[in-house]
Amino acid sequence: MNQPTAIPRHFASDNYAGICPEAWSALAEANRDHVAGYGEDTWTQHAADLIRELFETNCEVFFVFNGTAANSLALASMGQSYHSILCHETAHVETDECGAPEFFSNGMKVLQVAGPNGKIDPDGIERMVKKRSDVHYPKPRAVSITQATELGTVYSVGEVKAIWAKAKQFGLKLHMDGARFANAVASLGVAPKEITWQAGVDVLCFGGTKNGTHVGDAVVFFNRELAHEFDYRCKQSGQLASKMRFLSAPWVGMLKDGAWLRHAAHANAMAQLLHELLRDISEVKILFPRQANAVFAELPPHVIVALRQVGWKFYTFIGQGGCRFMCAWDTCEEDVRRFAGDVKRLLVEAPKEISQSAPNHRKL
Ligand SMILES: *Cc1c(COP(=O)(O)O)cnc(C)c1O
Repeated sequence: MNQPTAIPRHFASDNYAGICPEAWSALAEANRDHVAGYGEDTWTQHAADLIRELFETNCEVFFVFNGTAANSLALASMGQSYHSILCHETAHVETDECGAPEFFSNGMKVLQVAGPNGKIDPDGIERMVKKRSDVHYPKPRAVSITQATELGTVYSVGEVKAIWAKAKQFGLKLHMDGARFANAVASLGVAPKEITWQAGVDVLCFGGTKNGTHVGDAVVFFNRELAHEFDYRCKQSGQLASKMRFLSAPWVGMLKDGAWLRHAAHANAMAQLLHELLRDISEVKILFPRQANAVFAELPPHVIVALRQVGWKFYTFIGQGGCRFMCAWDTCEEDVRRFAGDVKRLLVEAPKEISQSAPNHRKL
């Protein structure tokens, strides 16, 4: 095998990407200011107003450092410590937040619901709620869905509404983990309001980091009652940024001329190209419908090892041979073609005997 030249961009996670130019220039501009801290500044006001404009409603907006904090605090605001939250078994809040939703809610239990392609089956909500109604069971209080999902699929407007119908039937609140919300909007081509408050979402955790900011996700309360004293929750959990403008200014940069959606559409298009190139290779099996910025595929184990040996980074956390290839705002067509070319080449060239097994990374 030839020694590769340096690989510029990987397919491990969209958080491998740097800060996009729009967020970066807003940060630089905010850095020239000498203004009040803790969100009492015009950048934060402007960013929240742009979010209200985007969703075409008078929502309450808070900026926190990351998605885990956004999800955990949003879920904590929905109920009491004896309540439970229903989510898909692959949900980030269940598998990748180290128990933060339980911790910040002082004990709400996360209960898992199954469903194909990373999406909750609405009937599964009913089964979970009806399973028990006694005082010994943590009372279901909220449903959490991820949009786009952890498996790179996207809930349609109808699917979110079907979940809402079940949630309403059983008096449950609806939370949306939107770490990749932008990718879902770009994929569906709908107005953001159509898959959020108009489809019953009470609180959206709107991810900025994977979309191109340096840090900082927005907690967007469409159900404004739930935002009651949320500022205290943020402060107590260490999520009230002293120099808040450096969390909010990038949102101004991203939202003011649509960069958030352009970058997401680009990442989705790169995943679509990768999907097209990989699906033509007979030894590669695509695992889930490609609807956002990820491709999940099963590759022969010797190819996974060889790809890593030539320097590619990606995650394999979904069983034998299952790989996740994630595209970001900075992924180029050239990266995609080079990677797909390496897959094809290594299928033939790489030794079939594997001396070392592929490490089983966790997702990010
Ligand atoms: C990345 C991600 C988050 C947020 O993770 P942080 O590392 O806490 O910012 C939340 N949900 C999903 C589905 C994610 O992929």
